[in-house]
Amino acid sequence: MKMPFINHLHCFCNIVRQESMYKNFFITSFLSRATHLRTFLTVSKSNSITQVKRSLAKKKLLNSRLQLWSHKACSNLAFVPKHGPCPDELLEKLQDFINEATRIFVLTGAGISTESGIPDYRSEGVGLYATSEKRPVQFKDFVNKAAVRQSYWARNYVGWPKFSSFKPNITHVTLADWEKQGKVCHIVTQNVDALHQKAGSVKVTELHGSAHMVHCMHCSYRIRRAELQPLLTSLNPHLVHLSSQQIRPDGDVELSMDAVAKFVVPPCPDCGGILKPYVVFFGDNVPRSRVEAVKEELRRCDALLALGTSLQVYSAYRFILLAAELGVPMAAVNIGATRGDALLRVRVPARCGHVLPLLHLARDARTAA
Ligand SMILES: [Zn+2]
Repeated sequence: MKMPFINHLHCFCNIVRQESMYKNFFITSFLSRATHLRTFLTVSKSNSITQVKRSLAKKKLLNSRLQLWSHKACSNLAFVPKHGPCPDELLEKLQDFINEATRIFVLTGAGISTESGIPDYRSEGVGLYATSEKRPVQFKDFVNKAAVRQSYWARNYVGWPKFSSFKPNITHVTLADWEKQGKVCHIVTQNVDALHQKAGSVKVTELHGSAHMVHCMHCSYRIRRAELQPLLTSLNPHLVHLSSQQIRPDGDVELSMDAVAKFVVPPCPDCGGILKPYVVFFGDNVPRSRVEAVKEELRRCDALLALGTSLQVYSAYRFILLAAELGVPMAAVNIGATRGDALLRVRVPARCGHVLPLLHLARDARTAA
């Protein structure tokens, strides 16, 4: 590792994170040349983001490698649990891990989407389990009880406009960039928010399905969730004025009993069966074919990087066990302890959106692969 370069990156990213100074903007990709960093550090002494942008533009540095984007939709840290600074020695270990890997299998969890404003279930103090008595819907209840489905769809309907508007954050963007550079060979996510795809990642398996798709439980009918919304609106005009700012990890929201009781749930237009989000509910299993396909991807990789996941859920933890069996080295970035800590080479106990921009890829990642 070239220490002077990393030191510059530290300075660079620390400055960028002073949100009072760069309230509305953030850096989506980091500079890879120390000369550019020095220039940026020089011009960024100004307190005005406009001046910084003007100076960078003058120096022709506002190129594809340095993009200042609107930070507004991506700056919600309300659902990120308390955490300390990123320890330098662990960061260096992680950088070495990245340097040695040529094909990284990335496993992501709710912890990476909290920085986009989506709460998770388990985070200490800020997750759903800590802040609410409510629990996610169970698969068998959804299948067996019409009232549960009515309640679920009513809340899902009201929550959809906000849930579908969440934007990828710097972790998603960095991973998409690493994929383009040939460093990441596959992403397996436990999230159903489609933020990896929104960021431009292509090789993605959504282990627990996607909230952006709806399917019939009795036939092969499928529809994009966005296309279902107008139909739900036409059936439930009394709910059109409702909107919710409070949202759960799967797009669910709080609603009054009255609003739920009046909600009309459409049946499958092909067979009259039950429509269900294409999501693996609690108490249901990930399809075996999907698990096997992910295992194949893992066998083709030479490193596993877990991001924003405590690995508590077995459906994800099984890949840690397989990687251990295969002798694939593993690392993680997660604020809290993970179920796989004993098997990891290094765990960085920090926010993914803090750590990933501090890492850099060797220029020959693609050829090495
Ligand atoms: Zn059907």
